Amino acid sequence: MTEENTRSEPPQSITIKAYYKGYSVLLTMKDPKADPQPLIERAIYAIDWIDGQRDFKPNWKQEAPPTPPKAPKPDQGQCPVNHAELPIMTVKKEGANKGRTFQACPKCNYFKWIT
Ligand SMILES: [Zn+2]
Repeated sequence: MTEENTRSEPPQSITIKAYYKGYSVLLTMKDPKADPQPLIERAIYAIDWIDGQRDFKPNWKQEAPPTPPKAPKPDQGQCPVNHAELPIMTVKKEGANKGRTFQACPKCNYFKWIT
């Protein structure tokens, strides 16, 4: 089998965050090899149009809305998730732990290294 066939990671994407005339633009390209220019031109066209509308204002200066407080995480002992059946994940980030596998619970603070 070739490298291409054995790869199980999802395809990568590229996200670009930018500002145009005070409007924030978030461009996500599913295919990193795709040409970003048509996307950018479409964003600029949309913003130019919005910019011509009355009462439309960029939120450039506005603070981000406050995030609602999160519910406290349950203690590991009270967690409804069966930690033994959690999917095994692999560290993708560059660093000392790259390639190690672990289980982590999304509902509580449970975390366990496998390798
Ligand atoms: Zn848990």
